[in-house]
Amino acid sequence: MVIDKLSDISPDLLYEKGIRFVVLDLDNTLSPYGDFNVELEVKEWIVKAKKMNMDIVVLSNTWFLRALISRFIVNVPVYYMALKPSPLALWKVLIRYGYSPDETCVIGDQIFTDVLMARLAGTSFVLVKPLSRRDGPHTKMFRILERSFIAKKILSSVK
Ligand SMILES: [Mg+2]
Repeated sequence: MVIDKLSDISPDLLYEKGIRFVVLDLDNTLSPYGDFNVELEVKEWIVKAKKMNMDIVVLSNTWFLRALISRFIVNVPVYYMALKPSPLALWKVLIRYGYSPDETCVIGDQIFTDVLMARLAGTSFVLVKPLSRRDGPHTKMFRILERSFIAKKILSSVK
């Protein structure tokens, strides 16, 4: 599923689809790259999903300090240096929280990290538009690849 921003998909809809575990991306999904600002509607989205008894974690390729500060802003566990698109960190949180890939949805702004990781682990995914045009150095390369047929292949999914 491809949407504009996180708040465009309601936690209710995810819940109806059987999702109980949401794995969020940080940079350009929760807050703009290089920025700690998290919009109120994003915070409210997280509070609502938690109230529905969904578990939420953030899985990011970012470094320790940014993860630590973000953890206090969004008030959910933030796992850093996840090395996405490797599904290893995702498998780890699935085991730790006790969820199956069927109950899990990855939400992020990048095809070659977030979506590819979700496909490799067999979870569903939601692709959001990046919050800002600024990207990290590695992401710039991936953004070029996102226009390729490989990206369309990764995106084409029954989930
Ligand atoms: Mg991102």
